[in-house]
Amino acid sequence: MKQRNHHHTGQQELQTITKSVTHIRLEATNVGKLAALDELAQVYLPLCQQYAILFCTEEQPDKFRTTCFATPLSERWHRVAIQQATGIAQSWRINRTQAYQDYLDDLLDYHQQEAEGTLNEEEQEPIWKEWSVPTLRQTCIQANVNVAVLEPAQDSTFDYWLKISTLAFRKQLLVPVKLAAYHREALAGKTINTSVTLNKRGDEWWLTLSYDEIVRVQTAPSAPVVGIDVGIANFVTTSDGQHYGAFHGKLRERQKRDREKRRRKAKLRKCLEKKGVQRLPSTSSKGGQRLARHVRQEINRAVNQCFAEHEGVQFAYERLSVATMKHKARAMNAYMRASNLAHIPKQIAWNAAKRGIHTTRVKSAYSSQECSVCHNVDRANRPDQQTFCCQICGYQTHADLNAAINIKHRWGDNELCACTDRNEVRALLMQRHQAWKTQNGWP
Ligand SMILES: [Zn+2]
Repeated sequence: MKQRNHHHTGQQELQTITKSVTHIRLEATNVGKLAALDELAQVYLPLCQQYAILFCTEEQPDKFRTTCFATPLSERWHRVAIQQATGIAQSWRINRTQAYQDYLDDLLDYHQQEAEGTLNEEEQEPIWKEWSVPTLRQTCIQANVNVAVLEPAQDSTFDYWLKISTLAFRKQLLVPVKLAAYHREALAGKTINTSVTLNKRGDEWWLTLSYDEIVRVQTAPSAPVVGIDVGIANFVTTSDGQHYGAFHGKLRERQKRDREKRRRKAKLRKCLEKKGVQRLPSTSSKGGQRLARHVRQEINRAVNQCFAEHEGVQFAYERLSVATMKHKARAMNAYMRASNLAHIPKQIAWNAAKRGIHTTRVKSAYSSQECSVCHNVDRANRPDQQTFCCQICGYQTHADLNAAINIKHRWGDNELCACTDRNEVRALLMQRHQAWKTQNGWP
């Protein structure tokens, strides 16, 4: 699911959600047909790769760029390759910039702790490792209507014909497309988008179709705002004091067991390595993948319940950076925090889009250290994972609840929104803390 754009048409706000129908296997009615597609991919991918490198290193991504590499592909296919490379380079550049910003935040955090003398012994100064440019390992072609056209089949054996232009001049490949019952159901009454994606996995070609759904945002602009804090101990905590889903009990037990298993395997590996054994057991675990899937299901359930129990409101939640996630999930291993924490905001966005509920993402910097009463920012306000206790005004509550209230208050806070880094956020909050002190007659 992709949320594409928000239109403002007078009072009504519309959201376009692009939904995908995947795993449609292309049937090889005769071997030659799909071989032509293989041939095409063999020249298409290297070309796409060349432009991706160009757009990541030397030039800004530009889908209208004049062609500059030699290829046996047609002009139309050449343009498709440039377009796909543009998308790849754009998201690579965005992710790299975000990661670099996270690194700077981490570095700042590190030096602040160093100056305060609160640095943990095991903590090391963060190091920036430059990213390498993306390599296209999988065969994926994002075709548009200029090179591939989907047409309803008159014949009842198939649902569509996919007409693909090939390397041979004016010769089109006609591939029959047969939908499964659940694909047909999902696409019933929908207008299928003209862009299609072709993937090759193993020896098989797969087709992905998509369609747009327009959802009217139901939330009134004056609807009360509820802040959501995202975390590990509690997946979701709302500013009205509700918790949904938790990483404890059964889940924690499973994670522990899995970690121990992996540790034992790693030990065994080392031992065998020393003895010169050639075939070593792998250290990745199936159990880990199962656990991650289970955690995601629990997250979905928690977010669903949160939305179900809050009707007629709008939500504010955090823009989670890698640095914040790391900070929030110190107790978990890297694999778990990467796959799970990031899933929570995604699930919030999906639920909101589906239900036509308005949400706003706000800055997360210092939301767990700021006192929601007097705005004092201090690491010491968090004596442990669960407790918030302000060192100045003495306000005490559940740590996640304090954070959720801060997030609620950050809705529509333009001053905070304008801050460009964590340093500025901290300075602004401390300025507000001083104002609070003056107002309340503190020295
Ligand atoms: Zn306070």
